[in-house]
Amino acid sequence: MSFSDQPELAAQLQRSLARGRLAHAYLFSGPRGSGKEAVARTLAQAVNCEAQPHDACDECESCRRIAGGNHPDVYWVRPESKSRRITVEQIRDFEKAVNLKAGMARIKVGIVVDADCMGDEASNAFLKTLEEPPAQTIIILLTSQPQRLLPTILSRCLKISFGAVALAVSPYRAQVVEVLRKFGSRSVAEVYQLHAAVTGLLQRIREKLREEAEANLEQYDEVEVKIRARLETQSDARLEGEYRAAREQVLEELYTWFGDVWLCVEQAETDLLEHPEELPALQQVAAGLSPARAAANLEAVEQIRDALSRNINETLALEVGLLKLLRPV
Ligand SMILES: [Zn+2]
Repeated sequence: MSFSDQPELAAQLQRSLARGRLAHAYLFSGPRGSGKEAVARTLAQAVNCEAQPHDACDECESCRRIAGGNHPDVYWVRPESKSRRITVEQIRDFEKAVNLKAGMARIKVGIVVDADCMGDEASNAFLKTLEEPPAQTIIILLTSQPQRLLPTILSRCLKISFGAVALAVSPYRAQVVEVLRKFGSRSVAEVYQLHAAVTGLLQRIREKLREEAEANLEQYDEVEVKIRARLETQSDARLEGEYRAAREQVLEELYTWFGDVWLCVEQAETDLLEHPEELPALQQVAAGLSPARAAANLEAVEQIRDALSRNINETLALEVGLLKLLRPV
């Protein structure tokens, strides 16, 4: 993805980049699904792109590695899936990593996803890193709940708000909601229906991306075999990156839905819901679930995401993960 996909925010970052005036630390705040992770990733690519001066080309080795999550100088920290906490050990490892000499990057980037999941000890450890920022390093905190961060952390970050972009709903929301609206953890048949719907959706997404990639390659039909082979490899890598990003969006949609169901079971304020327009359906599903069941369902989706981020086979991760929606709690 290049900055042009997030025009308003990106223009601001791109101007700073062009003037060589990036901050040491940023706080990207905005609701789930508002594109914080994608912009953080693009910023990491843009400061290290080998082809474009102030943007991401998506094609050079650096851009591809960052997109694939395997760049040695771009570090991600996420809450542990079970506890939903970022531990002090994770922050210490992060601190060590950002203080190492860069292996291939011009600028190292450290990204903390859901930074509000740091407890007191982790927050204090993190504050030390912010107080003595390592050279040639950008730190980006992502959060949907900035009020839960220490004021001393907030004051050291340049804040960028993703509020406005949040209105852009993921293209998969409607499809996922359609499937989940009637899902009440009642029977094996219901779980298999959900499984079939999710895998079917993912398959259609992959097909569509493949068709686009093939159409894109057709314009190079005449080029030399060697160059074409390289283009094909690049195209495959990009396809995989795009598919993973789309799959993550689908899982995010599952997660926000089960999150809303859980909020309804807990009778939380309705203005916390991601799908307020679905309130009647959410309440109907919630009426049949215990709080433990609703929390376990949310955790099951988190575990699927976690498994996929560790490259566990997709079919297996989905089947095992979705069956947990029925496991007794
Ligand atoms: Zn690049």
